[in-house]
Amino acid sequence: MLLRSCSLNPRNMRAFSRSPRGFPTNPRELYCRPTFSQLERLSGPRFARLNSSHANSDSNGSERQKSTRNSGSSTSFASFGTAGRTFLVSTLAAGLGYTFAALNQTSESQKVEQPQYGSTQDYQRAIAEIQATLGDVISTDEGDLEAHGFSEWSSVNADRLPVAIAYPHSTDDVSEIAKICHKYKMPMVPYSGGSSLEANFAASHGGLTIDFAFMNRIIELHEDDMDVVVQPSVQWMELNEKIKDSGLFFPVDPGPSAMIGGMIGTNCSGTNAVRYGTMKDWVINLTVVLADGRIVKTRRRPRKTSAGYNLTGMFVGSEGTLGIITEATLRLAPVPEETRVGVVTFPTIRDAASTAMQLIRKGITVQCMEILDDVQMDVINRAGGTERTWKTLPTLFFKFSGTRAGVADSINLTEGLAKQNNAESFEFARNEREAHDLWSARKQSLWSMLALRKEGSQVWSTDVAVPISRLPDIIEITKEELDNLGLFASVLGHIGDGNFHTCLLYDRKDSGETERVEKVVYDMIDRALEMDGSCTVKPPPVS
Ligand SMILES: Cc1cc2nc3c(=O)[nH]c(=O)nc-3n(C[C@H](O)[C@H](O)[C@H](O)COP(=O)(O)OP(=O)(O)OC[C@H]3O[C@@H](n4cnc5c(N)ncnc54)[C@H](O)[C@@H]3O)c2cc1C
Repeated sequence: MLLRSCSLNPRNMRAFSRSPRGFPTNPRELYCRPTFSQLERLSGPRFARLNSSHANSDSNGSERQKSTRNSGSSTSFASFGTAGRTFLVSTLAAGLGYTFAALNQTSESQKVEQPQYGSTQDYQRAIAEIQATLGDVISTDEGDLEAHGFSEWSSVNADRLPVAIAYPHSTDDVSEIAKICHKYKMPMVPYSGGSSLEANFAASHGGLTIDFAFMNRIIELHEDDMDVVVQPSVQWMELNEKIKDSGLFFPVDPGPSAMIGGMIGTNCSGTNAVRYGTMKDWVINLTVVLADGRIVKTRRRPRKTSAGYNLTGMFVGSEGTLGIITEATLRLAPVPEETRVGVVTFPTIRDAASTAMQLIRKGITVQCMEILDDVQMDVINRAGGTERTWKTLPTLFFKFSGTRAGVADSINLTEGLAKQNNAESFEFARNEREAHDLWSARKQSLWSMLALRKEGSQVWSTDVAVPISRLPDIIEITKEELDNLGLFASVLGHIGDGNFHTCLLYDRKDSGETERVEKVVYDMIDRALEMDGSCTVKPPPVS
C-alpha cells in the first residue's frame, strides 16, 4: 500500500454504491490517490516489483494477461502480462488509420496495418525512463490500477487494467511521457474525472493511464472576455464555485465528478444542453500533446472560428485517441438574473413527452427539461436526498432562467401547455436549497439506482435519441415494455435534447431474464433507427 496512506480504499467504492445516502460528488473520494508528497516518497521497492517476477516477455503478448482484479495474489507486475496487441488507444496514427480504413474497407491494396505495441520489456524500459526523466510520477499500486481501469458505473468494462498510472504536473511532463511511450510503443490512456459510462477510459490493451490529478489549476480568468484557461483536472462544479463572484459560469453539466479534460474528450452534454448546447460550443482553444510528444495549440483566444482548420473541433469528442489535452480555454456565460426550478407531474409518460416536444416546437425558453418516469421518482424519494416526498408519477423537471420577466413568461407558457396535456400538478422549489437538492437528486439518479441494486444484479443503461416529433411514440412504447418485464427498469433523460435513457437492473447470469431484457432493448434500438434516430448501447458482460 505504498500509495495509499489515507483511510479510504477502493473497496469503499462498492460499499458506497450500496448506500442510499451520501452520494460522492467525486468518485476520486472513493479511492485514495497519491498526494504530491506521497509520490515523492515512492521509489525503489515499488519499482523493483516491476522488474521482478511474472513477466510475460512475449512481444506483443501472446498470453492473456491475468487481471489484478480477479487475482488477489497477483502483483502489479501481472498487469504487464500482455503487451497491448491490436488496439492503440492514444495515437494519432490509430485515429487516422481507423478513418482511413473505414473509408476504404474494400480496397486490399490500401489496407492499413493494425498498430503494433511494444513488448513487456519495452514497457518496463518506458516506465524506467519516465521515472529517470521525471522522478516518481508512476504508480503501480494495485488499487490505483483497478480504480483507473474499472468503473462500477459503467455498463461495460475492459477485462484488463492499465499496467501503470502516470501523474504528470505540466504539459512538458506529458510531452516527455508521450515521447517515451512513443519510443517504446506503449499505449496511453488519458484519465480525468473517471465518470464516463461506456468504458471510455478503459485500458483495453494495458498500457499507461495518464491521470491529471496534479494538473487541476485555473490558470487565468478573463472576466471581460468571458473566458477561462484551465488545466484538465478542473472539475466543472468546482470551477463554477471558484468563479461565482465574477457573475459568470460554465454551463456544461455532465456527471457531478466530471473534469474538463474528460468533458472535452467525450464532447459531453448535460441538463443545461437544451439552452446552452454541448461541450463543443464552449471550447475556444486547446493545448494538446500529440502521440509522439509534440505540443500543439489549436488556436488563440479570440472567438472567431473561421481562420484555418477547425482543429479544436477535431479534438473535442475524440476520447483521447488523437491527442492529450493539457490546457483548455473555455467560454463562460453570464449567470442569469433569475432561476426557478419546477416539477410537473402527468398521468402518463406520453403526456409528459408530448409536453416536452410541443414546448421545444413553440420555442419556449427553458434552461433544462428532464423527464423521469414513476420508477425514477420513487428512486429519488427512497434515496432521501430532498426534504419532500415527490409524487411517483411521470414527471418533467424544468429549470427556467433569464431575466425576471422572461422567466415569468416562460413559466406561464409552460403551465398552459402542460395543462393541455393533462398535467396533474405544477410545483416549484420553495427556495434555493430545495431547488439545489431537487436538481442534485436528478443528477445523482444513477448512483441512487445503483444503491438499490440487489446483490448479483447488473445495470444496463441505454442512450437513445430520436427526432423530437417521435419522442412521445418511442418513450411510450418503451415504457410499456419495460413495465412488462417486472424488473427494475426506468426511463429518464435530457428530453429537451431529444434524448432519453433506460436503466435496467437484472441478473445477466439468468439466461431467461437476460433474453427478455435483450429483446426489449434491441427492439427499442430497432425502433429508434427506424425513426431515423441513434443509440449508444452495449450489453454489459457477465461479471
Ligand atoms: C451521475 C452521472 C451523470 C452523468 N450525466 C451525463 C450527462 O448528462 N451528459 C453527458 O454527456 N455525460 C454524462 N455523464 C458521463 C460523464 O460525466 C461524461 O462523459 C464526462 O464528460 C466525463 O468526464 P470525466 O472527466 O469523468 O472523463 P473520463 O471518464 O476521465 O474520460 C472520458 C474520456 O475522455 C478521455 N480523456 C480524459 N482526459 C483527457 C485529456 N486530458 N485529454 C484527452 N482525452 C481525455 C478519456 O481517455 C476518456 O476517453 C454522467 C455520468 C454520471 C456518473
